[in-house]
Amino acid sequence: MDHLWAPWRMQYITKPKEGDCIFCVKPKQDNDRINLILHHGKNNFIILNAYPYNPGHLMVVFYRHVANLENLSNEETKEHFELIQKSVTLLNNTIHPAGFNIGLNVGKVAGAGVEGHLHTHIVPRWQGDVNFMPVIGETRVVSEGLDTTYDKLRDAFSP
Ligand SMILES: [Zn+2]
Repeated sequence: MDHLWAPWRMQYITKPKEGDCIFCVKPKQDNDRINLILHHGKNNFIILNAYPYNPGHLMVVFYRHVANLENLSNEETKEHFELIQKSVTLLNNTIHPAGFNIGLNVGKVAGAGVEGHLHTHIVPRWQGDVNFMPVIGETRVVSEGLDTTYDKLRDAFSP
């Protein structure tokens, strides 16, 4: 396979583990741009994935540090799904993907990057991206920088 340029994946692999849960810490900081937070809801927030599988890769995250789906309230899950819908709508309007992979990884064995704090991944997909980028794989290519994506989406999410 040819060499692929994906510096943030490399950073992710070599970065030491943080002591605190990033999903608990980041929304409380008054630093949304650095933290890549696009939207604050009542029970959930939307954040751009710092190690994206495709441009516009977002996560909808519960504020509460909850590891199990069965421990969530109706109110929390209702807003969670509403924010998934909102994300899909706004991504469609801004970066025009052909489709999405949307899902939760529950538990480390399932590949959860931040273990113990539930979040839903929303990965925009384009025709042909799988030709050179396996969906589940070690190496990914992202053609657009995070700052550019953030600025584009922030305007749409927080008009
Ligand atoms: Zn947490």
